[in-house]
Amino acid sequence: MVTKKKTKFFKSLRFRILVILLILGIVPSVIVTQLMISNYEKQAIEVKVSEVSTQCAILCNQIIKENYLNDSSSQSVNSKLELLSNVYGGRMVIVDRDLKVVADTYHVDEGRTLISPKVVKCFKNGEVTNYRRYGQMLEMAIPVKSADVPQIQGAMLVNISISDIMATVGEQEQMAMLLTGIIVALSVLLAYGLSTILVKPLASVTKSIEDLTDGYQKDEISVPDYTETELITDAFNKMLARMKVLDESRSEFVSNVSHELKTPLTSISGYAELIEHHMASPEDVPRFAGEIHHNATRLLNMINDIIKLSELDATENSTRPMDSVPLYVLAENCVDMLQLHAEKHQVTLDMEGEPCNILGNKEMIEETLYNLCDNAIRYNNPGGTVHVTVRPQGDKVLLKVADTGIGIPKEHQKRIFERFYRVDKSRSKATGGTGLGLAIVKHIVTQHGAELNLESEPGKGTTITILFENVEKSVTM
Ligand code: ATP
Ligand code: MG
Repeated sequence: MVTKKKTKFFKSLRFRILVILLILGIVPSVIVTQLMISNYEKQAIEVKVSEVSTQCAILCNQIIKENYLNDSSSQSVNSKLELLSNVYGGRMVIVDRDLKVVADTYHVDEGRTLISPKVVKCFKNGEVTNYRRYGQMLEMAIPVKSADVPQIQGAMLVNISISDIMATVGEQEQMAMLLTGIIVALSVLLAYGLSTILVKPLASVTKSIEDLTDGYQKDEISVPDYTETELITDAFNKMLARMKVLDESRSEFVSNVSHELKTPLTSISGYAELIEHHMASPEDVPRFAGEIHHNATRLLNMINDIIKLSELDATENSTRPMDSVPLYVLAENCVDMLQLHAEKHQVTLDMEGEPCNILGNKEMIEETLYNLCDNAIRYNNPGGTVHVTVRPQGDKVLLKVADTGIGIPKEHQKRIFERFYRVDKSRSKATGGTGLGLAIVKHIVTQHGAELNLESEPGKGTTITILFENVEKSVTM
């Protein structure tokens, strides 16, 4: 539980804002203060070096003038040496050209030979400065020469304490740390405040969704604080509207199904009851049995159609295998199969066209052909015709079922593809129709990515065309 809370906090927007503000606050302030401190240190050292150089240049002049390197008894040079080493808190050593120590303010190396890389370098290249930060020392080797005697006569080794500079640097570093601490504290406070303000609209979105799911008080949610929250709520409202439509269509479907099942079942139950209680005369029994059979077949057909529709609903078209389907051959088979049915209705059924293949599902296409031809025969007039056409049209394939039947009034044309929708309920019922055939056709056409078209005029007939785009080029007969 605790770990879940922890990970939740680390994943939160609040934590990320805190991290960003800390980085934004700390990194630049650390860089700026460090740059300022090192700049100060550099400048202070440079000032010190130039100060010492000047003092030493003056001393060098005096050393040469008084021939100090050969005779180190000069009082004025010695006292100046003492003074300088006291002022700078360090040691000063003077060596001649043979590296012999002429003077040492610590009085330990006088008369000895001093071999130091710094002195050698000084004889070769002139002034040498070496700065040791951690020893808090500045070491310099200055050539002894003057404007009148430009050749190097000796070298002056100066070791100076820079503890005063380092103390100031230390103070500045402490100040910088304090500043960083203040920035961290401010960042945390700012991050808390800012994240509370920034996260508030998101919390409102969550609360609105929760309110809605708890009570359904409102139809939609609205949090227009940010463009992003507006986009989220818009998408959520769209999803909600779609769910409502699905919900409504599902409950409508359930009530339609129960209603459609009730009628044939009532009549089956009624006839069966009459026979059961010997209330039907022996000559009526076959008629009643026929009615029971007819209604049971109607029920079976309806249930089969409902199963087909729910299968179509459940499978997405992308998951269904698409094969090469010989549309012309299937149409021919369907026309042959329905010839007897057409004769019964005194309708002429024929077909024309040329062999063409489409990409699709064979069973579904057979179902489509059957439903369209069956309707064209069923809603026809005695002496009428049904004409089926299959032929290529451009790079597509056309299937057309045209009849000279009763036609469909304009106001019903849009709705006949809905589940259980029938124009003339009594006629459809009399012919055993349930109003599911065209709903299945529409579903199949959509799954095949084809185009469905209806043209109809009451009394003149109906033409339904389907244009298949998924076409196979090679043709089989
Ligand atoms: P089912 O096909 O499920 O057995 P059905 O034929 O009543 O029942 P659909 O095929 O979906 O259902 O047709 C819906 C309605 O459209 C029909 O009831 C009928 O009123 C009308 N209709 C369909 N085809 C034609 C047609 N060719 N001519 C006139 N009306 C038609
Ligand atoms: Mg039908």
